[in-house]
Amino acid sequence: MSKIKQVPVLYIVIPCYNEEEVLPVTSGVFLKKVRDLVSSKKISDDSRILFVNDGSRDATWKIITELADQDGHFLGISQSRNRGHQNAVLAGLMEAKDQCDITISIDCDGQDDINAMDKMVDEYLSGCEIVYGVRSKRDKDTIFKRATAESFYKVMNFMGAEVVFNHADYRLVSSRVLQEFQNFKEVNIFLRGMMPLVGFRSTSVYYERAERIAGESHYPLRKMLALACDGITSLSIKPIRMITSLGLLVAVLSFIGIIWAVAGNLTGATVSGWASIICIVCFVGGIQLLCIGVIGEYIGKIYMETKARPRYIISERTYEKEGRQ
Ligand code: UDP
Ligand code: MG
Repeated sequence: MSKIKQVPVLYIVIPCYNEEEVLPVTSGVFLKKVRDLVSSKKISDDSRILFVNDGSRDATWKIITELADQDGHFLGISQSRNRGHQNAVLAGLMEAKDQCDITISIDCDGQDDINAMDKMVDEYLSGCEIVYGVRSKRDKDTIFKRATAESFYKVMNFMGAEVVFNHADYRLVSSRVLQEFQNFKEVNIFLRGMMPLVGFRSTSVYYERAERIAGESHYPLRKMLALACDGITSLSIKPIRMITSLGLLVAVLSFIGIIWAVAGNLTGATVSGWASIICIVCFVGGIQLLCIGVIGEYIGKIYMETKARPRYIISERTYEKEGRQ
């Protein structure tokens, strides 16, 4: 492989889950973007738009196969069942890594400004291997979504899981980085936290986040909390350290309590202390359960990791894999 960068082949990786309302609109936008980038000689005409159907229950896969029939720039793979956004993106990236020079992962709902791709490719051409798309504003999100999403990043960072603030999964990653990334074998994946761990030169480009074109968000608060919890426990052991500190604090307090109780007993000042005992028992009991829960989360993760189940299973493709290069 020569070091001189030729016009790169770009694969745009797009996870889709029940997006029949959105795809017919956004697919045209993606195609236009690829054509524009090709005509401005930033990317090769071998570039492709790779849809990853994440076990949709609606007509998403049918739409993808039709698109692939209509235009050779569209490709599609289908996961054998719904595995979630992260696994869908990973499946697409792993599928693309040997066929291209760069990948850009983006949601299919038109929320992430597609024009930021130009800047991303420029950054790649000037030597960056990872380019994070960062939301500069979230004016179009509801106040609730904005507040919860932004606290998500703050809590994550506080808990020791380093993530780029306001960066979701809109990102350019070179195939070189992906070749290294495939050695990250963990089953619990949190791409936006794992990519920085690979290293290489990286930068950010900023864009404004728009409203969803149609359909509903698949990330309600419940899923966002689960993602945060997953991200934190996958990337950091700070919660366990916090338990240790808490244990130390409670131990010190208990020690003071013991001295106080013994001194009280010796001076004969012990009176009926029902309320205080109940409070202490409940408090310590609660903390203990909480701590066991956190430790349990990690044990659960270890359990899942030891099974080493496949992270994605591709059941269908709109093309023959062997026939391609
Ligand atoms: N998605 C997916 N699998 C899922 C949930 C979502 O592939 O189980 C895709 C979805 O089609 C979209 C992207 O992930 O392209 C982001 O989802 P969504 O727009 O619902 O999340 P939000 O932007 O509201 O955080
Ligand atoms: Mg969205």
